[in-house]
Amino acid sequence: MESWILWLLFVFAIAAGWWLGRRERKQSRSLELGLRHLLNDQHDQAVAALVGELEFLSDNVETHLALGGLLRRRGELAKAVVVHESILSRARLDTKTRHQVQIELARDYLQAGLLDRAEALSIQLARENPRYQTDSLKITLSIYEQEREWQKAIDTAKLMVGGENQEQIDEAISHYYCEQAEQLIETGDIAAARVAISGATGHLAKNPRVSLLQARLELDEGRFEQALKVLKRLPEQDVDFVPEALVLLKKTYQLGGFDLDDYRGFLENCLTKTSSISIVLALAESVKEEQGDEAAAKYIASHLKKNPTLRGLRQLIDLHVENAHGISKQNLYILRSFADALVADKPAYRCIECGFEGKRLNWHCPSCKKWSSTRPIFGLEGE
Ligand SMILES: [Zn+2]
Repeated sequence: MESWILWLLFVFAIAAGWWLGRRERKQSRSLELGLRHLLNDQHDQAVAALVGELEFLSDNVETHLALGGLLRRRGELAKAVVVHESILSRARLDTKTRHQVQIELARDYLQAGLLDRAEALSIQLARENPRYQTDSLKITLSIYEQEREWQKAIDTAKLMVGGENQEQIDEAISHYYCEQAEQLIETGDIAAARVAISGATGHLAKNPRVSLLQARLELDEGRFEQALKVLKRLPEQDVDFVPEALVLLKKTYQLGGFDLDDYRGFLENCLTKTSSISIVLALAESVKEEQGDEAAAKYIASHLKKNPTLRGLRQLIDLHVENAHGISKQNLYILRSFADALVADKPAYRCIECGFEGKRLNWHCPSCKKWSSTRPIFGLEGE
């Protein structure tokens, strides 16, 4: 080989070594700085150091992805978007990597509330790469849930039928139909609401929400036999949700002129499966109407011995207060206000997935976004 070519190669090797070394030192310095901030709990500085030095990490897509994911989990959504968009802006990305980054970016958009962008990106990705179909559908489903676009949610979820978590998908579809039915009832389109209710039953026959919804509809239309039939399905579906139906049930028996012994028998039968104080109190009211305060108080007291609850105690005090006199009456008033104060701030429902608590029943947990995960709380301060 010519000597000048050898010299040229020698100089090039030295220059390349120097450049690589310099680049590596800079990359190492930026990473070190970022890590030092992280260790010192200076999260903002850590993120700034890592994001600011992206140029030096330009060959390492995995590092970018990890950083983007970290930022999203920390709620730094604007920065997560910057990181993921910066990877996508590179010309030399292979298709597999591009799709990998796109799904992350769609998740950033979703969490940041940029729903149009999240929807467009996830739909495009599902079309281009079947491997990401499930992940993309999950994103679009979350979007339609947030936008309360129930028909779109139903259509999207049906594309997921047959895959993993079949039971969860059916449960979600059943609730989408229930949501749709509630919207239709509000607009007065009862025929369409009935179609939606039958769609809900078709996907999860044991969903107690469907029975509650259908019973309300039947009662409003004066179809008492049908309302009663639907309500009597509840103990088999989920007996803990019978308390949600107590008002409807009483109304159905009264307006339909049904035998009240049958009403009491139904509730007594429920009490063999659940210890719900709401059911005990509904029965106590019925005893009071027939036999008076004393019999109702005895009935509540017998249940409180087995299953003590503040709400039961409150009702028991109420039944005694009217018949008490003088200092006893005053003391019972004080006791009642104590019981009221103890019950007042207590949540009635809890999500079994994330522990979110509230006073009203949410079929869709506002915190973890699971369907059917919120249940009545039992125990001294609850049911
Ligand atoms: Zn939850």
